[in-house]
Amino acid sequence: MLRVGSGVDVHAFAEGVPLWLGGIHIPHSRGLAGHSDGDTAIHALIDALLGAAGRGDIGEWFPSTDERWRGARSTEMLRRVWDALYADGWRIQNVDLTLVTREPRLAPYRYPMRQALADALGCSMPQVSLKATTTDGLGTLGRGEGVLAMATALLWRDDAVHE
Ligand code: MG
Repeated sequence: MLRVGSGVDVHAFAEGVPLWLGGIHIPHSRGLAGHSDGDTAIHALIDALLGAAGRGDIGEWFPSTDERWRGARSTEMLRRVWDALYADGWRIQNVDLTLVTREPRLAPYRYPMRQALADALGCSMPQVSLKATTTDGLGTLGRGEGVLAMATALLWRDDAVHE
């Protein structure tokens, strides 16, 4: 059985915090505000995985009222979600992410971000696609106020085994 899911997340830039995006630290003057490390790419990916499996959303799994997840590394959140879905028999066909931001320029980091996400998912890098684009100066993202991430995940499961 094949199941597709989608996810979207946005976080605002904040002064004085490191930038974590796609599971890696990117040197930049500002980072992303959030209850966790603010990694929008991973948050969108988590929602895409949960959507495909029909297992709720990131807010249910990691409530912002829960102090355990304050400052949490999003990679650990992704591992936790994927461990649960994997135990239910789900396997990755592919995932595809699009990041929308004016800054920083993400091209040099696409490869390491794909590798970090593939490592967290226990899949191969060719199964993880990541693109970056801008809004051509339009709107809040065009003014460099934050980062938007969109993700799509295609999962498969052998339902002769898991049902
Ligand atoms: Mg988020």
